[in-house]
Amino acid sequence: MSELTNLYGQIAACQKCALAEGRTHAVPGEGPEDAEIMFVGEAPGYHENRLGRPFVGAAGSFLEELLASINMRREDVYICNVIKCRPPNNRDPLPNEIEACRPYLDRQIELIKPRLIVTLGRCSMAKFFPRAMISKIHGVPKKVGEVIVLPFFHPAAALHQPKYRADIERDMLKIPQILAQMNDFEEMLPDQQAEQLSLF
Ligand code: URA
Repeated sequence: MSELTNLYGQIAACQKCALAEGRTHAVPGEGPEDAEIMFVGEAPGYHENRLGRPFVGAAGSFLEELLASINMRREDVYICNVIKCRPPNNRDPLPNEIEACRPYLDRQIELIKPRLIVTLGRCSMAKFFPRAMISKIHGVPKKVGEVIVLPFFHPAAALHQPKYRADIERDMLKIPQILAQMNDFEEMLPDQQAEQLSLF
């Protein structure tokens, strides 16, 4: 059994916060264990809780559409959430719920080692940039430790609000270029890399 599968077992059995009582299924996340890109949403919703899979409702269809715009399919990327169980009535996750789930997401990042993490929405952005405003930093890649983090608006918000929709569509189109820049960067000599670091 892989360490990631083992982690999914721990998440399925988790009782660390009150959300465990109301869940049908925990939603650990899914995708290749060696994915280059990890998308991190906020929390499972109604459909996700029923099926135990992330982003399977309307926001998920929109995410798939966005991925298609850069010739990718959902199977090509890793998709998960900040918290793994559905909050009642889809309310925002509480700080204690985020904290209880934090080791699971941290471990997923450690095991998958994505090169790029795309945060979907404010809650996910706040894991990396707690004081930032999403309206200011969406679509701007930034190096955090070993990984590049790229904040997006949440697809559920973008689905129905034309302004956010245009932004998320535009931000998604930046991904191929960011990955290409990362490849170029890795091929550079250390002093060239130092010059280029300002890129991120
Ligand atoms: N919204 C999220 O943030 N995550 C999901 O899995 C579905 C909808």
